[in-house]
Amino acid sequence: MKLLVIGSGGREHALVWKLAQSPHVTRTWCAPGNAGIAGERLAKNQSLVECVNISAEDLPNLLAFAQEKQADLTVVGPDNPLALGIVDLFQKHRLRIWGPTRKAAQFESSKVFSQQFMEKYGIPTARAGTLDDADAARKFAASLGERCVVKADGLALGKGVLICASAAEARKAIDEVMVKKTFGAAGARVVIQEFLEGMEISLHALCDGKTYKLFPASQDHKRALDNDQGLNTGGMGAYSPAPFLNDEQLSKAGRQILDPWLRGCEAEGIDFRGVLYPGVMLTKDGPKVLEFNARFGDPETQVYLPRLENDLVELFDASVSGTLGTVELQWSAAASVCVVMAGGDYPRASSKGKPINGLEEAAQFPNVKVFHAGTALAGDRIVTNGGRILGVTAWAKDLRAAQTAAYTAVDKIHFEGAHFRRDIAAKAH
Ligand code: AMP
Repeated sequence: MKLLVIGSGGREHALVWKLAQSPHVTRTWCAPGNAGIAGERLAKNQSLVECVNISAEDLPNLLAFAQEKQADLTVVGPDNPLALGIVDLFQKHRLRIWGPTRKAAQFESSKVFSQQFMEKYGIPTARAGTLDDADAARKFAASLGERCVVKADGLALGKGVLICASAAEARKAIDEVMVKKTFGAAGARVVIQEFLEGMEISLHALCDGKTYKLFPASQDHKRALDNDQGLNTGGMGAYSPAPFLNDEQLSKAGRQILDPWLRGCEAEGIDFRGVLYPGVMLTKDGPKVLEFNARFGDPETQVYLPRLENDLVELFDASVSGTLGTVELQWSAAASVCVVMAGGDYPRASSKGKPINGLEEAAQFPNVKVFHAGTALAGDRIVTNGGRILGVTAWAKDLRAAQTAAYTAVDKIHFEGAHFRRDIAAKAH
């Protein structure tokens, strides 16, 4: 089977690494990929994964490439190509592709769509308003009291969510998004949510349009600095399982969130085949959804896939075919921890061309995998090329052992300006 994987981050490296273990896979391309992805070999025939220089948003060239190479399955990692309709385009040309259609990807590409959907189908979420007028938005924010969260409707490179600690901050945020239009058209409408307190976790569910299979819980670390200080980032590390829900509470949360979600999808004619990733706050009144994503989390994927015992090609195949009902997900008893190493100025700026040392030493440890996120090859050297550079992942019998192993590997790796959090998974202890 010939695979094409789209994307270039740590999530896509983890996907390629896991897919490459499948005996079904004879050839794999990744567009555009990174230096770590280009070093992966297929279990079946030891051939290298081939990176091709086509961006994840260049739909016409991705289509032409998949047609030319006769890819049997295309796997989409990031949200942008999904929101642009890559799945619809490939389906139109009778190519098999894994991921939600443009309509289904609206759960991520429009916060207004998601909020209204959650309210219509009784999915537990924050009290919220969806508004397209700045005056009305200011009034609604004031009605929520001092604290609230202002969210631009559309995709805004992960920056369109503004947490406001006072009424004055809320007015400023509404001004930024709706009047100054800092996020362009993405801010023409906003969702304003009450501020929820609690422990935040990530859920993931593999879906085939009719059914879903819930993953164990995981937890991301969004802020740049230890103790959840500093700027919001794409994610500085993750671990799984997150111990704040036992098995029974996890399946109850799944039923409260995903059962009405699936009923809503049926009622609205949304055929969601892919991964739905709800960001959830565990409040004193139960779990509440903050937002939906329509793809795998990054870095959650890096901690899930080392624990997954199923063949990922078979799972994606079942998700595309609508046969997930016959499949059981199998997870190893191991716990896993991923520590993201970023360039020094992340998330303000990215790092380019700095040589990375110590990757071979880190790779010597058992049950450790260094997933590349922002790396490139310069001659025969691996250099930095992005904001988040590496996701150093370890798995072991429990979270404490996995955390120690991940940081032992991190300490072997050096590049100029390297920055990482020292407290990934600390909340679990
Ligand atoms: P989102 O992209 O909607 O998940 O928002 C980004 C981050 O903002 C989340 O991961 C939360 O940490 C925080 N956040 C979003 N909505 C709320 C809310 N209603 N209450 C508290 N924190 C929130």
